[in-house]
Amino acid sequence: MREVAKWLSESRYTVILTGAGMSTESGLPDFRSKDGWWKQIDPMKLASTDALLNNYEQFREFYQVRIEALNDCEPHEGHHILAEWEKQGLVQLVATQNVDGFHHRSGSKEVVELHGNIYTTRCQSCRKEASINEFMAENGCSYCDGRLRPNVVLFGEMLPEQAWQRALMAMQKADLVIVIGTSLQVYPVNQLPMMSRGKLVYINADVDEEQHAFHKVIVGKAKETLIQLAAMVGCS
Ligand code: NAD
Repeated sequence: MREVAKWLSESRYTVILTGAGMSTESGLPDFRSKDGWWKQIDPMKLASTDALLNNYEQFREFYQVRIEALNDCEPHEGHHILAEWEKQGLVQLVATQNVDGFHHRSGSKEVVELHGNIYTTRCQSCRKEASINEFMAENGCSYCDGRLRPNVVLFGEMLPEQAWQRALMAMQKADLVIVIGTSLQVYPVNQLPMMSRGKLVYINADVDEEQHAFHKVIVGKAKETLIQLAAMVGCS
């Protein structure tokens, strides 16, 4: 961990890439670990374009439950440490697969939401923006009565081009990439670290497979590990 802290202090351009494991210590379940959503529900069935088109009621309920879960949760100290590192010039960009908006909420400014944001909603037919309250109230689109859906990237959809390009360019510039709390199973985001020629660090609670691509692997929880790293770089 000391070596990673040293790399962080010395790096001129550091990118953080986060996944659902970044937010489990805020109380939000991830998808693939033992308490994750997908042990009960198949993600391909619900968080997918297929469900949106062919099983809308269940699709909507799945997202309503996830949105409600956010009401009781807040960013944790690890999110705040990343925001502080940005202020101190130690981190240049946070790219996230999370749709919970916690990096913004904790004060990070340079954030790329690769899979969108669950707090905004649009019509699937005419793309008109709608409020989250309309989605929660199970209204149709006020303009065309189409199906409302969160502005997140579903299985079967492309990533937002601008967000992808920004993350890709940052990876190419980075001399340090710290990947936190992702199973690295979702394409194409799992390819991003390999686009960097910088040092690669992987922080994850469970690491089953050898992660040969990474220069350092830290097996640990996101919050605890960030607290320890922050103490080492003298900025918490
Ligand atoms: P994932 O569920 O596939 O993997 C999460 C990883 O984090 C697992 O390897 C798990 O062992 C690890 N983990 C769990 N708790 C941890 C902790 N406290 N500290 C460190 N590691 C921890 O999630 P993913 O890789 O992000 O990819 C799947 C999809 O999940 C993404 O598309 C994302 O949009 C979506 N998702 C987002 C949220 C959110 O916004 N909070 C929640 C669930 C799923």
